Order: sequence, then structure tokens, then C-alpha cells
Amino acid sequence: MRIDIISVLPELLTSPLEHSILKRAQLKGLLEVEVHNLRTYGLGKHNQVDDYAFGGGAGMVMMIEPLANCLDDLLAQREYDEVIYMTPDGERLGQGLTNRLSLKKNLLILAGHYKGIDERIRTHYVTMEISIGDYVLSGGELPAAVLVDAIGRLIPGVLSDETSALFDSFQDNLLAPPVYTRPAEFRGWKVPDILLSGNTAAIEDWRYEQALARTRERRPDLLEEED
Ligand code: SAH
Repeated sequence: MRIDIISVLPELLTSPLEHSILKRAQLKGLLEVEVHNLRTYGLGKHNQVDDYAFGGGAGMVMMIEPLANCLDDLLAQREYDEVIYMTPDGERLGQGLTNRLSLKKNLLILAGHYKGIDERIRTHYVTMEISIGDYVLSGGELPAAVLVDAIGRLIPGVLSDETSALFDSFQDNLLAPPVYTRPAEFRGWKVPDILLSGNTAAIEDWRYEQALARTRERRPDLLEEED
């Protein structure tokens, strides 16, 4: 999969892409992420990318021209399955949407800033708008990084069997069961006996029961969704 990200602050994206699972995915050749600095498409000698809002009011708006030129360049190079704008008024990101996006080939993600981007970009270029939650961040880079991480770990071959995403929270509408590692006892706090029993079938049952109980207690809405 290839993901292109358009941003005025590419530095904000560097670190999340260079570590852990996203790094491994790229080294394995399963994921290619390219960040494009919108400044290089900025206007005039100051490479301007934002301007005052028509109609007045506080806050700047990302201009249409640099964005359109950058998008045109990328769209001329390949076909994108989706042109995604990260925005608080978009569709709320969930595991279902993440699963669907992990099957795509080319994604283009737009990270906004200031008051957001000129609405005409949303009308004429953007095919999907995604929010990472009901709160407002100052830029779309962290939301873009969240989306790329959530998608990247689902690409077949990225995670090894032991860390398989199938057992994570929200897959099958269940939260994950509790996990433990050595030592089996610390300050008198013991790991549940069943996990030390070696009885794989019983352990699987226990994990399922725990996941179900945890979901009932914390997120009963997930169980209702299943029906
Ligand atoms: N005025 C806008 C918010 C702009 S925040 C509004 O009220 O809707 C600046 C940028 O940060 C946005 O363009 C978007 O790209 C990003 N952003 C902020 N919060 C976000 C969220 N919850 N999900 C996705 N992107 C977000």
C-alpha cells in the first residue's frame, strides 16, 4: 500500500513513521508513506499557503491554489482509492473503517491547519472525510499519523502471528481480555492460574469470557451493534 500525505508541517509526521510497526511495515516493503510539504506549492516569495477568511472572522484558511496544484501533481502520478481530509466534522474513525481502508492500494491524506481548508477543495477533490474524535486539534498531522498507524498494522504481513490484530479490541466488537507476563507473582499479586495451566483450549475460553465480561461492563454498546 502507498499513502501520500499533504502537510504544512511534515516534521510532525516524521517520528511516528520512523518507529515500531510502521517502520517495520515500510522496511518490509508492505507500506510506502510519502509526505509532501505544501509549502513547496506556496504562493509568492513567502510561499504563502493561508489567507484571511472571506466574510471576516478570526483565523486563517488554507488557500485553494497551493492545495489544488499539489493534488493535481499527485493525481497525475497515480490513481488514488480515496482522497481523505482529516477533519473534526468527518466520519468518526472506528475499527470497521480502518479495516476497509487497510485493503486499499493508494491513499492520499490531507492534513489541515488554521480554520481548515478552502471548502472548494473538499467539494472538488476530497472523497472521504475522517475525524479521529469529537475534539479539535490544531493540525491534521496527528490525526493523519493515527490513521496511518491504525491502517498500517492491519496490512497483511505487517504484524507477526503473535501480535495478530484479530485479537485486538474492537475486532468482533469485543474489547481485548487482560494480559500478563512474568513474573507470575509480584508483591503477592498473582497471575490467574488458568494462564499457567498450559491448557490451551481452557485458556481460549477464559480469554473469551474475560473479553465478553469486559465489553459488557465498559462498552455494552459494542455488543448491541453486533445484533
Ligand atoms: N475550524 C475547524 C477545525 C480546524 S482544526 C472546525 O471547527 O471544524 C485544524 C485542522 O486540524 C483541521 O483542518 C483538521 O485537518 C485537523 N483536525 C483537528 N481536529 C481533528 C479531528 N478531531 N479529527 C481529524 N482532524 C482534525
